[in-house]
Amino acid sequence: MDTKKIHIKSFGCQMNKLDSSLVTSALKGKGYLITDKAVEADIVLINTCSVRGHAEERVYSHLGHLKHLKKNKTGLIVGVIGCMAQRLGTELLEHEAVDIVAGPAQIAQIPELIRKTLLNKSKSISITEKIRTAKTKELNKELDNFEFTYDSDENHIHNQAFVRVMRGCNKFCSYCIVPLVRGPEVSRSPQAIMEQINKLSDSGVKQVTLLGQTINSYTYTESNKTYRLADLLEMASKIDGIKWIRFITSHPKNFDESILKAMAGLPKVCKYLHVPAQSGSDRILKAMNRGYTADEYLKLIEKAKQIVPNIAIASDFIVGFPDESDKDFQATVKLVKKAKYKNCFVFKYSPRPGTLTDKKLQDNIPEEIKKLRNMELLEVQNQISSEDNKKFLGRIVEVLVEGPSKKPHLNKAENKNNPQLIGRTATDHIVVFNGSESIAGEFAEVMITNTSALTLFGALNS
Ligand code: SF4
Repeated sequence: MDTKKIHIKSFGCQMNKLDSSLVTSALKGKGYLITDKAVEADIVLINTCSVRGHAEERVYSHLGHLKHLKKNKTGLIVGVIGCMAQRLGTELLEHEAVDIVAGPAQIAQIPELIRKTLLNKSKSISITEKIRTAKTKELNKELDNFEFTYDSDENHIHNQAFVRVMRGCNKFCSYCIVPLVRGPEVSRSPQAIMEQINKLSDSGVKQVTLLGQTINSYTYTESNKTYRLADLLEMASKIDGIKWIRFITSHPKNFDESILKAMAGLPKVCKYLHVPAQSGSDRILKAMNRGYTADEYLKLIEKAKQIVPNIAIASDFIVGFPDESDKDFQATVKLVKKAKYKNCFVFKYSPRPGTLTDKKLQDNIPEEIKKLRNMELLEVQNQISSEDNKKFLGRIVEVLVEGPSKKPHLNKAENKNNPQLIGRTATDHIVVFNGSESIAGEFAEVMITNTSALTLFGALNS
């Protein structure tokens, strides 16, 4: 076979990025070449996200371009994989540009689906039928093997890797599509996770980020012992080459204190907690089916700050949820001011077909109001972050260097050998400084000389 080139475009969250890394690694293993240009490719895969309508619109616009590309390039194969593939199934397969559709639970089958499509010149689909009730034991075994065999640090930052500790979600927040496309919560065995981290460490990885949609729900029972997230953190801490361990994302409900104690007591565990609140209004939280009140959430934040000194906390919010009044929104602003986050991600509500909110409530907040609330909340957070970041002025911080910074920043690169680099502290603060690209993937000390709401700027401490 002549060597085929594959281009993979990834949308969405870290789970998707991890899936794309594994698929890239598997396809390389089968002899395919990876290209970052769709026009050069014989096969284009789009790993999709269904969390917001906008993400799906971007996929359709991409498919529009690929339809044109196909007219000039006979034999070009287009595959749609991930959450949107699972959600829309055959509807997507009917799209003129699409040849392959594969859900998130079928990533291990992608090399075979490509082979068959090339051979038979016909469309193929593999998704999970009745995902909430499907008997997925075999699929999970296949995914575990796939995960262990292929590299999860492919396409990623030097010496950093993601490790999935669980799949799916059982929380059913009323607005969220994830439980319907990623299926029920399944925790991987601690043994499989540790084997994978050991393998990554042997290949030079220094930081692992444990991934789960609601990672604090991690539960695995084996030989009469039940393992929780705190146990995983402790076990991973014992792996020599691993220096930093992160975990995302936590759900505020049933947040086990043992996780905070592990964060405080295990030096390798980064003091960074991403725990989305979504709203500060009890009425909206109830409609969202989040399972806690604003007060209960703030108590958790207080406890985290007490148990883990210098912890940095980040959150997500949805503004413009159906029926969100000004009073509800102001309750959110109040919560953000009280929580004093390191940073927040703010999203405008976007109805997702099939979710409870979409079935029961009307998307009745005008786009203009959603935009204004989005901007106001970000502005409140920016002020908090600007003020908080000043505490770093004159301090030396340790960062794991990611590589050259993509955007122009305050630090001007002096010459080619001293470009602008980006690194991240254990508390997830982004630091920009000048240095040689050769230190990407290494730890470095940076003296902070300037700060903004989103970034710390400094110079290498030599
Ligand atoms: S916890 Fe809620 S928002 Fe997060 S993935 Fe599960 S259902 Fe979606």
